[in-house]
Amino acid sequence: MEELIERAARDLVNSKYAIALTGAGMSTESGIPDFRGPSGIWTKDPEAERRAYQTYHKFLANPREYWEERLGSPSLLGDLEKVKPNPGHYALAELEKTGILKWVITQNIDNLHQRAESKNVLDYHGNAFKLRCADCNARFDSEEYDLQRLREEGKLPPRCKQCGGVIKADVVHFREPIPGDVTHQSLEEAWKCDLMVICGTSAVVYPFADLPRVARQRKTETERKTETGIYAVEKIPAVTIIELNAEPTPLTEEGISDYLIQGKTGEILPRIVEAVKRIRE
Ligand SMILES: [Zn+2]
Repeated sequence: MEELIERAARDLVNSKYAIALTGAGMSTESGIPDFRGPSGIWTKDPEAERRAYQTYHKFLANPREYWEERLGSPSLLGDLEKVKPNPGHYALAELEKTGILKWVITQNIDNLHQRAESKNVLDYHGNAFKLRCADCNARFDSEEYDLQRLREEGKLPPRCKQCGGVIKADVVHFREPIPGDVTHQSLEEAWKCDLMVICGTSAVVYPFADLPRVARQRKTETERKTETGIYAVEKIPAVTIIELNAEPTPLTEEGISDYLIQGKTGEILPRIVEAVKRIRE
């Protein structure tokens, strides 16, 4: 374990453009329930899952009704404002401050990276504290709209302050496509990075799961002198992929990742950051 932490720290220090992908494993360490685990939200309430599959269709068919229902029922994730970032979130924010980590691309909707003061965060599946225009993709803080008042005044659905389009939750619902700006930038980052650290996700939910696979395909060409003195062009992987997860994942098994550090992200990430600082001293 200690050796792998050292190795990850060295890989990070030697990288030119490192990014992190994060998933549910990071949030559960802050006490947020997952969806499909043994005590997950869907596992305990399959009916809620069935309804969740209808949500996007409802929005398209009748946005007013979508909002009425949304405002009338409590959030499935409970009171996210009371949840706090854990040492894993703070470690990634610190790694960004050192200039090593360029972006965090997260599957989580809980805003915990931003609250730990990471600046460059892509919310791949949206953010529970934001609203999004279905037409122009503009994001707004939920606080910018007094939704209960709009409801009382019969003015739902809310309208975009930029283009007048219909506003929905920023969170990406089942069967809803990932917003184009997010897919575009994530793919660009996956293509650009020379180090990817994947924290607390087995990356089996698509299209998010494409990101490590896209990165893996990238090769750089180097010239190698052969025994006969002729230079041969050799293609070598252009990216190092590190996994931090409680269990091995399909990425480990398919050889997409170079190595796995097994354990809790809230314990491993702070140790990696400590090692990075030691190396750079
Ligand atoms: Zn708009």
